[in-house]
Amino acid sequence: MNDSYGRTIDYMRISITDRCNLRCKYCMPYGVESVEPRDILTLEEIQAVAMAGAGLGIRHIKVTGGEPLTRKGCCQMVRMLKSIPGIEKVTITTNGILLGRYLEELVAAGIDGINISLDTVDRDTYREITGYDGLAEVIEVLERAASLPIPIKINAVSIDFDGGWASVAELARKYPVDVRFIEMMPIGYGRNFKTLNHQELLFEMEKRYPGMQPDSRVHGFGPAVYYQIPGFQGSIGLISAIHGKFCGDCNRVRLTSQGHLKTCLCFEDGVDLRKILREEEGESGSLRANGHWQWRYQSCPDDKALQQRLTAAMSQAIQLKPAAHCFENPEYITEVHNMVDIGG
Ligand code: SAM
Ligand code: SF4
Repeated sequence: MNDSYGRTIDYMRISITDRCNLRCKYCMPYGVESVEPRDILTLEEIQAVAMAGAGLGIRHIKVTGGEPLTRKGCCQMVRMLKSIPGIEKVTITTNGILLGRYLEELVAAGIDGINISLDTVDRDTYREITGYDGLAEVIEVLERAASLPIPIKINAVSIDFDGGWASVAELARKYPVDVRFIEMMPIGYGRNFKTLNHQELLFEMEKRYPGMQPDSRVHGFGPAVYYQIPGFQGSIGLISAIHGKFCGDCNRVRLTSQGHLKTCLCFEDGVDLRKILREEEGESGSLRANGHWQWRYQSCPDDKALQQRLTAAMSQAIQLKPAAHCFENPEYITEVHNMVDIGG
């Protein structure tokens, strides 16, 4: 569907967990608490929202988190999303630590692309950023994934922890993968870090790689601007939310793991879909014998009345999607959640 500014909204990022097996300093440093499992949407609840989204014109879904592969049933979630009529592509973004275990299962579930987040290729810096000595594991699975017939992308936040952006870029020479640099946004702990300015990064890249050319081929459904470098198998992408604002072309909404449909990264605007999903049953849940809370989800995802309520709420929220973010005026940012809650 189109929002009130005529933008076509066809992409939904779905966070399936707020838990993570890493502790990236800018996202989920040590000490960040996770919510109770009962507060996280069930697979059927996510299915209901995705079906309503598909009815409104959502065509592409990104499965995110937290770390999506820490949620039991992540591959089942991908398979379910792929089966929804109207959904054309389902991709995932992961830190790669559990990807070795689930790669084949994800492919069998029909995944259309995998983004691996990797900010550095220096072992010590990786441990310093993430709290875990896992670089070798990520590189190993990257090598395996790069031989698959689906697009693999590396995402690196642009804070240049070790002055090593070029070493990360070189992964696109070594492997047939795109490497994308993402300007650090002042959300959650990201506020404590200064982003590289991508206009300056582009200048550095042009100096280092004289034959670099703009790459106008479509690489995905996001705002990255791509460049080709002679001798590189993959392209380099720049996602420049701060120094190359792209809100006029924004095509996305975000579903948090707790069921809030967010219409802009910068603001709390949106609608609480969990309330709609659970309103018939109240907010009590039930206590299982083993002491863990489990939500009793009784409605079917395709229940007509439920679909109508979700569609109306989502449609209204999309209509009210803000025109643009306000990262250049941080005092106007209303988003108080951490990126690990939102999904990037
Ligand atoms: N755990 C998965 C991963 O790392 O890909 C998925 C969730 S993570 C929140 C998604 C992406 O958001 C990662 O690439 C991460 O680097 C990025 N990210 C986290 N905080 C950010 C911030 N403040 N600004 C820009 N990107 C951020
Ligand atoms: Fe976890 Fe991804 Fe956040 Fe790192 S960026 S803490 S891997 S959710």
